[in-house]
Amino acid sequence: MPPAGSRAAVLARFSSDLQNPRSADDQIREAVAYCHRQGWIVVLTEKDEARTGRTTVGRTGYYNVMACAEAGECDVVVIESVSRMAREAADMLMTARKLSELGVVICTTGGGVLSGFELVIRAQVAQEQSEEKAQQVIRGQRGAASRGKVMGGVAYGYDLLDEPNADGHTRIKNEETAPIIERIYEDIAAGMSTHAICNALNAEGVVPPGGGKLWRPKAITGNPHLRTGIGRNPLYVGKLIYGKTQSKLIGSTGQTKVTPGLVGDQVVYDVPHLRIVSDELWQTVQDILDSRTNPIPNRTRHPTYVFSGLIHCGSCGQSFPMVSRKLGCEGRRQGTGCKNRRRVSREELQDAVLDGLKAKILQPHILDLYLDEYRREVAKAATDQASRLAGSQTRLQDLDVEIENIMKVIRAGSGGLGSQLLHQELDRLGTVRKQVERQASRPPTSPSLSLETDAVIARLGSLLDDLGNALMGPERDAARARDIIRSFITKISVVPLEVEGSEDGRGVGPVRITVEGSLTQLLDQASADRMIQRRESSSATLGLPNVPFSFYADITKEDADTVSGVYADVAIFSQLLDDADAPVARQDVVNALHTLDHNPTAEEIAVLRRRADNAITHLLNVELIRSVMVSFGYKGWVWTHREVTDEEWIARSKQPRPEPPIGIIRISAPEAFVVVVGPTEVVPDEIGKQD
Ligand SMILES: [Zn+2]
Repeated sequence: MPPAGSRAAVLARFSSDLQNPRSADDQIREAVAYCHRQGWIVVLTEKDEARTGRTTVGRTGYYNVMACAEAGECDVVVIESVSRMAREAADMLMTARKLSELGVVICTTGGGVLSGFELVIRAQVAQEQSEEKAQQVIRGQRGAASRGKVMGGVAYGYDLLDEPNADGHTRIKNEETAPIIERIYEDIAAGMSTHAICNALNAEGVVPPGGGKLWRPKAITGNPHLRTGIGRNPLYVGKLIYGKTQSKLIGSTGQTKVTPGLVGDQVVYDVPHLRIVSDELWQTVQDILDSRTNPIPNRTRHPTYVFSGLIHCGSCGQSFPMVSRKLGCEGRRQGTGCKNRRRVSREELQDAVLDGLKAKILQPHILDLYLDEYRREVAKAATDQASRLAGSQTRLQDLDVEIENIMKVIRAGSGGLGSQLLHQELDRLGTVRKQVERQASRPPTSPSLSLETDAVIARLGSLLDDLGNALMGPERDAARARDIIRSFITKISVVPLEVEGSEDGRGVGPVRITVEGSLTQLLDQASADRMIQRRESSSATLGLPNVPFSFYADITKEDADTVSGVYADVAIFSQLLDDADAPVARQDVVNALHTLDHNPTAEEIAVLRRRADNAITHLLNVELIRSVMVSFGYKGWVWTHREVTDEEWIARSKQPRPEPPIGIIRISAPEAFVVVVGPTEVVPDEIGKQD
């Protein structure tokens, strides 16, 4: 139980379920009274009104309490019952884990401090609307464990005394294998390698655990992170630990993932009759095994691609992983008959996503709608924080008065028991004052950045640039950048973009990517200053509903080595459009691109046409040009910004064609065409056919 003077956050939750029809205010009153009985300072009271159908909104109270815990402003969270805190066991587990990491305990007014283990079981049962059942389950498991009964398998060195039943089973030491355990521990302590120990045991024909043929070092060392293996089993010092590991079913793969149990979830029972080695020997072995383990976990982990697992084939829905140096459809690779043979490089995809976000999402008309609500929430969060701060300052003044009063009494006092109690009270108030003082002197957590639309767009724009650079930089930065990007991008799908004249033989060719993500999460990145160094927490403190976004972008680069050619071609085409008195036809572009000193071969003509089509597609996609149907089968392109009607263009094209412009100078490519990202649907028919 946290000592007197601890800071408590109270959370009440009013739900309409008939189990507990008491109002949130009643709950708060009871919880505050409970805190006072414990001598705790209530730093925050929050209530959530239950709303149905929405999980992230309507829980601002919950988020405020979590924010308070994250800010280090409370030591204990007080709730009336477990179901007040989280509706579902899964939520409860996350909450318990988070609070346990922060060193904050959860307390119910009825049950006192609850361990993570109890919380999870209670939450599970609360879900089934029965608090009483939770008590039975916990009592049952504890009772069974205290009688030495366990649910798991039998460790090496022990025997089953009875047949397992619903209550678990009872273990006793095995006269033959228990001494082997002792010997292994002594050998490790003596500095023998686990290989040498296994070799010796195998040479003597000692039967290994699990009925295998040979002893293997892994059986002794186990998994250092999960604390498994003979060398690390605390049962050998008479401690039975529940929740040492936890298993989670991974829905996407159907596999069970085993991870270390949380310290807060673990329940330890003394089972002295099962002790085989001394505490001292056990600890020596732990130190030796730990020193032999790689001290830097995950050191060999390979950097992952920023969009790993997020990319899908838009044609068949399969994943879109790296297939021989480029991303491609997994279904097609496995021969499921998917027609999507396009492949795209990681870098192209990354650029298209980041540039597309800037071009499509960071637009005033898109953000404005949402930013209003966002600004309101940010302002509200700031006000809440300010009032918490003001509250602690008031409390500080009150404490000073209380302390001064007690001091007066003590100075005038007569000693004895009364004086002793006053001294105790003075000590307590001193501790409380220190805590409140620390809290009151804490500066506001985030500086107020402008949330004007232009400022947000500018900040997010430079963030996206930073992220793009960081992805290419040192792994440390790249990992951080990946985390940030993955917080707001949820799915990318890739489909072939059919453009006439593009051969699709080698899987090259333009693709259209559709990007889905969370606008809420993206905007969250705009409320922090140095975004790349931003801490992970506290982003979920705003109780905003998640607003998704999606956009598409086209990657029309043919191949890395022809890219510069494409840009130059766009420049030549632009020159033609500038000079033209009539719509520019595809053949005009082909002629202009033709710089060979001989008559082109059929293959060279095909290449020229493809280059012309690419240049046309580029400008069409950014809506800089439009097509004019001059006559049946004869189409040309004109600058969109020229104020000339189709009729006038058609009339002009009937005039004698002027001489083709002479001496087209190849100028460097305008940067604006680096990645074509545009709302225009590329309709293959729009590309000329009259050659
Ligand atoms: Zn596919």
